[in-house]
Amino acid sequence: MSTETSREFTALRPRQLSKEISVSPIGPGATLGVVGGGQLGRMFALAARRMGYRVAVWSEEIGPATECADQVLIADYSDMSAGRKFFQSIAALTFETEKLPVELFQEAIRFVPVRPGIPFLEMSQNRIREKTGLQQGDLPVGPFHITRSLADLENGIAKLGTPAILKTASGGYDGKGQIRIDEGADLSQVWREIGTSEAILEAFVPFVDEISVVAARDVAGNCVTYGPIHNTHEHHILDVSYCPINVPPMVRQRAIEITTRIAQEFSVVGVFCVELFVLGDGQVWVNEIAPRPHNSGHLTIEGHVTSQFEQQVRCLCGFPVGSADLIRPVAMANLLGDRWLGGEPDWERLAREFPEVQLHLYGKTEARRGRKMGHLTVLGTSSSEAAAKVIAARAVLAR
Ligand code: AMP
Repeated sequence: MSTETSREFTALRPRQLSKEISVSPIGPGATLGVVGGGQLGRMFALAARRMGYRVAVWSEEIGPATECADQVLIADYSDMSAGRKFFQSIAALTFETEKLPVELFQEAIRFVPVRPGIPFLEMSQNRIREKTGLQQGDLPVGPFHITRSLADLENGIAKLGTPAILKTASGGYDGKGQIRIDEGADLSQVWREIGTSEAILEAFVPFVDEISVVAARDVAGNCVTYGPIHNTHEHHILDVSYCPINVPPMVRQRAIEITTRIAQEFSVVGVFCVELFVLGDGQVWVNEIAPRPHNSGHLTIEGHVTSQFEQQVRCLCGFPVGSADLIRPVAMANLLGDRWLGGEPDWERLAREFPEVQLHLYGKTEARRGRKMGHLTVLGTSSSEAAAKVIAARAVLAR
């Protein structure tokens, strides 16, 4: 047994251990469970159903995933009597968001395999655990300071300088739960404003590029990666992604190496994404990890031989990972609720002027500013051409 496999097994309870050792994969026809009702759960369900599986979704409310499921549980995530019935009805369990109580999975693992593992979920739920875990694994992260009081914040600013970013340890996403601190800022006000007892102060990273690598690792430890993918953000929310990207070979190699090492170090079985900063001197630092398919990986649906969602199904069921080869350069643009504020987007014009663009909508009925409603994808002869086209296509939606 390899070291990484044995590490994975030590993290498991005996009951799951026996299930892991009985190696035959979970075949089509079985019911796969996913916790979370958002768009990532929806795209997982669509991939699983295409492959002949049935899908059970546990969500606290009706959402994009529940309408694509064969079986739906709408219940509070603390409702373990409903949960136990749910776990008894499925063959394996995954999740589409990390913002879930870990106790749910600790109970689930008594019934079915849970992938990726609980330790990996727990680590990525908390920025302090994540950054310290990465540092202990000798993986590169920017300078940070654990901040549990105003005094910690003052010491952190003295150590890291300004600008810096204070982030809540848990619960934040898309720039929420973050405050940028510039020189002369009133630190007691910042500490009051962040409104948490556990935060992390990060030095502001003067990155030249933001990239991500999506990875899929199967039970046998085979790992494939997508990207690096180039990402641009608007108001801290992912806006456009494309790949392949034009970076020095060392940067590409480093990004893939970091991601593969994370997969091994944390014995991941499933799909995850590493968001990375590229510095001017070619260094690559981890910003954060998503223990699930990622928005920047949506372009794998059309752009790659096996999508990130199909990989999630394959890994969950114990099949080998599929090919992550790029079919053609590809770009993706998000559609946020802002585009609905002037009325329904002009779908007819999009279809007429950009017949090569693929539309994905998540079935959300209420459009709000900043809410991810869908995305567009297009293949091109180069990623810059694809990116220009997907941005132009998105622009014609405005009325
Ligand atoms: P996060 O939620 O941590 O991914 O942050 C959202 C976005 O804020 C990132 O994609 C970056 O554009 C920016 N950001 C986060 N942390 C830092 C940092 N330490 N230095 C510079 N920019 C950052």
